[in-house]
Amino acid sequence: MKVLIRNVNILTMDDAMTRYASGFVLTDGEKIAEAGNGEYQGSLSGVQTIDGHQGILLPGFVNTHTHVSMIPFRSMGDDCRDRLNRFLFPLELKAMTPELVYQAARYGICELLLGGVTTFADMYYFEDRVAEAAKELGIRVYAGETVIGQPTCDAAEPYGGLEIAERFMKEWKDVPHIHPFAAPHATNTCSGEKLRETFELDRKADALFSLHNAEMDYEMKYFRDTFDCSPTEYLDQCGVLDRRTLLAHCIHLSEHDISLLREKRTAVAHCIGANTKAGKGVAPLKELTDAGVRAGFGSDGPSSGNTLDLFVQMRLAASFHKTYNHDRALFPTEKLVRMATRGGAEALSASHYGSIEKGRAADLVLMETESVNMFPCYDPYAVLVYSANAGNVSLVMAAGKIVVKDKKLTVADLSEERRKLNDLMGPFSRAAAEYRDIL
Ligand SMILES: [Zn+2]
Repeated sequence: MKVLIRNVNILTMDDAMTRYASGFVLTDGEKIAEAGNGEYQGSLSGVQTIDGHQGILLPGFVNTHTHVSMIPFRSMGDDCRDRLNRFLFPLELKAMTPELVYQAARYGICELLLGGVTTFADMYYFEDRVAEAAKELGIRVYAGETVIGQPTCDAAEPYGGLEIAERFMKEWKDVPHIHPFAAPHATNTCSGEKLRETFELDRKADALFSLHNAEMDYEMKYFRDTFDCSPTEYLDQCGVLDRRTLLAHCIHLSEHDISLLREKRTAVAHCIGANTKAGKGVAPLKELTDAGVRAGFGSDGPSSGNTLDLFVQMRLAASFHKTYNHDRALFPTEKLVRMATRGGAEALSASHYGSIEKGRAADLVLMETESVNMFPCYDPYAVLVYSANAGNVSLVMAAGKIVVKDKKLTVADLSEERRKLNDLMGPFSRAAAEYRDIL
């Protein structure tokens, strides 16, 4: 199946950041066959043609850190201190079921696709259910089964996730576009021995290794008091920093921490929306990118950042880092859009998607420019960062398949997904009511 998208303003994200002000992209199966300026000159027989009406076409967004199945938690206890320990962990243990994880993942993936995200990295429990939802809906996923030193909804024993992950990775290793891995929860919720064991499991499979790092104040204090080092230094001492490692958050980093990430070629998932909403701090993104550390954006879970698309992340990153460094010229919009697309692919050590080039995966997003907020459009990068939102995403293609068309999902009925999720959320909502006094 060949698709031609014509009459579009293309931001390719190739090495030269080439832009085709009025161009076309031809896809063939899962890949991009051709892209260029002007009109496609080849044969149109058997080609589905789409007029882009001078919209902006760019590679699909890459969300490098989230927990899509946490949709049922969204808008619950947003202003509650230490909600992770006070009700997130206990409520997950009590009320998360494989059915709820699956249906919440389907709903969350619908939101990702409608926001132009074609690849995401996820960490949760019953992660095979997330992989199943991703496979059905046609999105690319790095699916991490959580390993943590406490009982969870899918493992009665601490670190039971290791065994589940091993099985999950074996079963899903050859499924196209699904990249299973074992994900330690965080530096302070796993022992050094289990961090190493999980790392080894991922290393053998050449899989992603991803966890939360340097996020919490109490995490920083714990490592300082117990090991006289930072959590990043601790990960290095455990031998788990390498090119496959992707650390979420990294809010609190010393110069030495940053040099370690550079030396070990470790990547960072920058979750500015979740970090600042929780008042945790602003990660040193300027210093990280100056040092050449690979960084992509992450929305974090839907209850941490309340949204799964990357428009909010790009805009908040611009505002916070310009303000933090008192420099308007810092993080120009071109750099932020690159980070949300190709930068995310690089953070996940992937080069087969993330840019619009011949032979790369046909992961594409078309932004309409006809809505009230999208005019005028002098600079498409600035429009994407400062004016656009997920409501302007008009067409999404994931691995050559059109998954959103005319702002509607083609792979699912959203109202049906919502009804099913709402039906399953009954016991969850009743369990949540027990925490009424702190929420
Ligand atoms: Zn997270």
